[in-house]
Amino acid sequence: MPRLCLLILLYLAPISFLKAEGSGKPVLHPMDPREWFGNYKIYTAASQRTLEQGDPEEHYRLGKWAWDHGLEDEAWEQWILAVNIEPDHSESRKAMGFVESDGHWTRPGEVNREWVKKIDKAGGGYSFTIAIEDDADTAFFDEFSWRIKRLNWFIWDLTEGQVYLKNIRVADKTSKGRFVIEKGKLHLTLLDGGGAICYNSGRPNWVVESGGRCYVRIFCHEFFHGIFGLPDERHGCACLMQGGLYGIKTTQISMCDVDTHIDDFVTPTPCWTLIKDRFPKMVHPNPASYGKAPEVNITVENY
Ligand SMILES: [Zn+2]
Ligand SMILES: [Zn+2]
Repeated sequence: MPRLCLLILLYLAPISFLKAEGSGKPVLHPMDPREWFGNYKIYTAASQRTLEQGDPEEHYRLGKWAWDHGLEDEAWEQWILAVNIEPDHSESRKAMGFVESDGHWTRPGEVNREWVKKIDKAGGGYSFTIAIEDDADTAFFDEFSWRIKRLNWFIWDLTEGQVYLKNIRVADKTSKGRFVIEKGKLHLTLLDGGGAICYNSGRPNWVVESGGRCYVRIFCHEFFHGIFGLPDERHGCACLMQGGLYGIKTTQISMCDVDTHIDDFVTPTPCWTLIKDRFPKMVHPNPASYGKAPEVNITVENY
């Protein structure tokens, strides 16, 4: 029996988060699921209109609306559409966290090359294939590359500069990969059934199956099932492994530790404790100035 780990985003009431109130631990305040789903419906209808208009300004504005209404990945979808039309669309670039210098848009901060070398030596740079079962076009690969870049940023930040994506090959018309974008799910959104599942969590043969528009945060959650063998949490930690994080921004999320973990008999151990049990060389909190994530090298094979 393969062990299966699934982030059940839907239908998990945020009631469990109340448990942490008064405990002195960080508490997240997810949106009411009904409000969040309502926002999502409004977004879906509006995104159809902006696609037809093809105006970067409209994409930017809808992205901003999505961001303000708890729809982070939808916001990114719009800003990416805007910069695809107008690469220097500065409002969209800034919304995505880029800064301009000498005519280039970059993420702020420096890559600490010495530190990255150390992490490489310790095995923290991951290289694998993302297999797309369907026949994908250039537009899909371009959009998906953004998801890989963002995934790499999340991984780096959440592991405090100790894990990153090094060489990622994305190939279509194949099933052979660590991540598999399943047949017929290329353009499926999360809420239409394009979510992700990790099989064989924590084993050498872990694999993530997903739709092509799954949230980057969920990709990261599933990747951590895979490499760290972390369980799904349901009891209110301000942690990536938690379910029901409606409308919570990724910047508000970390990995729970002895100080922040909300104890429960189903998940008694903080994520950082489990990570360090498995990888004794990893440290938390990491006192090093590890800098921003190194660029992930993405190779596209469009068959
Ligand atoms: Zn956790
Ligand atoms: Zn926890």
